[in-house]
Amino acid sequence: MSALLDVQTARSRVLAAVRVLSPEDVPLADCLGRVLAADVRAAGDSPPFTNSAMDGFAVRSGPAGRTLRIVGESRAGAPADTAVAEGTAVRISTGAMLPAGADAVIMVERTVEPGDGTVRVDAPTAPSQNVRGAGEDMRAGTTVLTAGMPVDAAAIGIAAGAHAAALACARRPRVAILSTGDELVPPGAPLGPGQIHNSNALTLAALATTAGADVVARVHVTDTAEATRDAIAAVLQDVDVLVLSGGVSVGPHDHVKGALEASGVREDFWRVALRPGKPTWFGTRGDALVFGLPGNPVSAMVTFLLFVRPALRALQGADPAARRIAVALLEDVPRTEGRDELVRVTLADGGATLTGPQGSHVLTSMRGADGLARIPAGTGDLVRGTEVEVELL
Ligand code: AMP
Ligand code: MG
Repeated sequence: MSALLDVQTARSRVLAAVRVLSPEDVPLADCLGRVLAADVRAAGDSPPFTNSAMDGFAVRSGPAGRTLRIVGESRAGAPADTAVAEGTAVRISTGAMLPAGADAVIMVERTVEPGDGTVRVDAPTAPSQNVRGAGEDMRAGTTVLTAGMPVDAAAIGIAAGAHAAALACARRPRVAILSTGDELVPPGAPLGPGQIHNSNALTLAALATTAGADVVARVHVTDTAEATRDAIAAVLQDVDVLVLSGGVSVGPHDHVKGALEASGVREDFWRVALRPGKPTWFGTRGDALVFGLPGNPVSAMVTFLLFVRPALRALQGADPAARRIAVALLEDVPRTEGRDELVRVTLADGGATLTGPQGSHVLTSMRGADGLARIPAGTGDLVRGTEVEVELL
């Protein structure tokens, strides 16, 4: 058997084939989960004007014990039309513009109003006390978000504060999921002899969507060379990424490799020193990336996370690397000769614990997993307490 490619090399080869997708303008309300294609500079100050951090009175800073005449009110969205002078105060709400002449705000809890149009100030006020300066959060012209950042809730709010209404985001990668297997029936369908429910079509589509992709086709194909070729031809025109599940091994009914080659997809690699996921296939046609993932449900998910997800991120201009941490194993784990094993773990009590039995058909081993821990190839057990590298999910 030919030498298996190691996981890092395989991933590098995938990333080397990625051409970043072109950007498009996306309204802020639709930006969640997209990737910024350009830096964002604040077009104006935020806050846009100097305002009060408290409900209270805008005053000139000074000692405690003063009685000031109330000469107006500044409300959020409705500034006062009177200035503050020595001996006067303007009633003010949180977020309201600081009136001219004032340099501090005394919080309402430190004042007493006798009801005769005056207010007694019971605490000293320092200059700028309870005052939020214009541009204190974001100064006009400064870069507040950077290209390649995934857009999260905070980024959307920051963009709004920076006077933006839309953001330049990478186009979503268009993805087709093609599941192969004569045994597959749709979820919920009654099972005939030897049949199983098609779970990969949905798990892979969900992983793709989570990675920011637009899943444009989910197709099931039977195990014939012709059907596989036809399905590939039908979807490949129109996508940035084609993900196939199953049929990529060496069995007599595995047609994916041959069908891809017949469809003009150039093989980059086949077979990785990985468990689960040894038969993983990767190739390209033009700029389109094509992944043949093994059919076992855990293998399909793990290889998607290791190879397809980084590609989807890179296509959008984001950092493809998953976050990695080093943690101690909290149990002994057997090693596999010649292949790194990626086991599903939960992180708690200062270490990593396996999610249960790790067979490539045991999809419940993905349930609640925090990450994939790499058990380096070898013989014998990797003993409890050994530090392993975990890719967080
Ligand atoms: P294959 O890679 O086609 O040899 O399939 C390996 C195993 O994964 C077999 O037990 C298949 O029945 C199973 N399998 C293949 N495709 C799917 C799928 N879409 N959903 C769930 N299981 C699958
Ligand atoms: Mg099959």
